[in-house]
Amino acid sequence: MGDEVEEIKLKTDIVELIGQYLPLKKTGANWKGLCPFHSEKTPSFMVNAERQIFRCFGCGESGDIYEFIMKMENLNFREALEMLAQRSGVALRSHSKYETRNSTCPPSGRREFETNPNFPNDQNNQFSNTKSQIYKINLASAKIFHKILYSKTGESALKYLKSRGLTDETIKTFQIGFAPQKPILSNYFVSKNISQDLLYKTGNPQKFFNRIMFPICDVLGNVLGFTGRALDNETQPKYYNTPETEVFKKSRILYGLMQAKNAIRETKIIILAEGQMDVVSAHQSGVKNIIASSGTAFTDDHLRIILRYTDNIVLAFDADEAGKKAALTVIQMALEKEMNIKVVVLPENVKDIGEVAVANPTLLKNIIQDAVYWLDWIINSKIDNGKSKIDIADKKLFLKQIALYLKWVKNPIEKSHWINYLSQKFGVSQESINALIDSNSKQTKLASLEIVYGMLEIFPALKSQHSLLYNRLNDSYNSQRDMIVMEVKNNYADLNEEIAQKEIEDILKRRKIDDLEKIKSDFARRISEAEQNNDREKVKELMLELHKKII
Ligand SMILES: [Zn+2]
Repeated sequence: MGDEVEEIKLKTDIVELIGQYLPLKKTGANWKGLCPFHSEKTPSFMVNAERQIFRCFGCGESGDIYEFIMKMENLNFREALEMLAQRSGVALRSHSKYETRNSTCPPSGRREFETNPNFPNDQNNQFSNTKSQIYKINLASAKIFHKILYSKTGESALKYLKSRGLTDETIKTFQIGFAPQKPILSNYFVSKNISQDLLYKTGNPQKFFNRIMFPICDVLGNVLGFTGRALDNETQPKYYNTPETEVFKKSRILYGLMQAKNAIRETKIIILAEGQMDVVSAHQSGVKNIIASSGTAFTDDHLRIILRYTDNIVLAFDADEAGKKAALTVIQMALEKEMNIKVVVLPENVKDIGEVAVANPTLLKNIIQDAVYWLDWIINSKIDNGKSKIDIADKKLFLKQIALYLKWVKNPIEKSHWINYLSQKFGVSQESINALIDSNSKQTKLASLEIVYGMLEIFPALKSQHSLLYNRLNDSYNSQRDMIVMEVKNNYADLNEEIAQKEIEDILKRRKIDDLEKIKSDFARRISEAEQNNDREKVKELMLELHKKII
């Protein structure tokens, strides 16, 4: 193993690696940035390219590429080694156990209880032990669900998957399973002596009923949790995920990454779709570099994971309004990271990429090949193609809108490219487009939380609805209250309560700030439900969960 450790080190540039996590500036022989391991305003985090090490003079963290990744990604050495091996294209030979971990999710050859048959539940167990126990419970559950799918009980579920065009091989590759109406895991958990506490920490796979089960794996093949899709259309919600656990973090989960990683390395492109079925169907049709964010809000963490593999991203979201909106959000975030972004244009009357994949694999490859640059996609969605001539009024309105998007472009070359492109396409000067961008850019003067604060000040109804958040913001921004309110009014010409509400939600989502009021009322409802059912255990569980969330 020692050789591989060194080989990976030789092939990985620490400046480039760390540069994917945080901006670094060259200062003399070193590179400098804000430390990711402690909170600071002036950079004391140094990376030395010559010696291939990092050191923070603020908190004292230091080390090489492995230590950085272990700390940053919360991995043990072996996991960090595998991640960096994959990134640098070095094959790990010495541990044959790991070589078979690529083909299915979870790897079908792995025996779940080989090291720890009785799930000892020692309170002093280390975090990593809890983690590996969670993996084992999830792996065992995934296998049982998969087996059930091919039993009499799973008949209707299997029929559904086949009707969506999936083959047995694909179902096996993704270890898709079925959780029936009657509980099937409890006997198994009892026989293995698994405690309620540990099940709770796992997110309890027994909570899924009458759902098609998609195991969610990390790149190493560990089963982190599940997405369950309702079998009939009446059951709500249609998709149900494992709740947040120590290993299942929605903001970081990308479905299908494990099955996609080799293809991503070959093509240097990641296709991002919306749902599990899109990924599974496309994979079956031969497009394997495809992943999905599993219907949850896309976050910066997702992008950071994608950036470990490539900075070329192709968006293949659903054709509906929600899909278009989601695409715009990802475009904005990806531009901030200076990624290259294209968007797949779906044929008329097709609702998602999974549909194309099943019906016509050749067409799927063609539309991915023909994906257009993000700005062309926006232009096409805004211009009425049936119109033969674009008059001056159209140009003014249209370019004003486009300038809003150009504001997102961080890379100066890309920005200049698009300004030049628009100038030629619409027969206007580059200066005039620049002027439009500048007139829009005053909107960025306010930080996003200041915008939230200003909006809450303007609309008292929203203020009382978000009282906790408001109090928190008021502590920080009260002294600039009038200026902020004025700026918000200036920047949002047609501001009303509905728009403000929407904007606040978007900002909170982007900033990953939990809307405490929403969480509390949601929990209040669930707790009173459990009380009505006399389910004391559930009440206790919910209280605990709520407590954790709001502390
Ligand atoms: Zn530090």
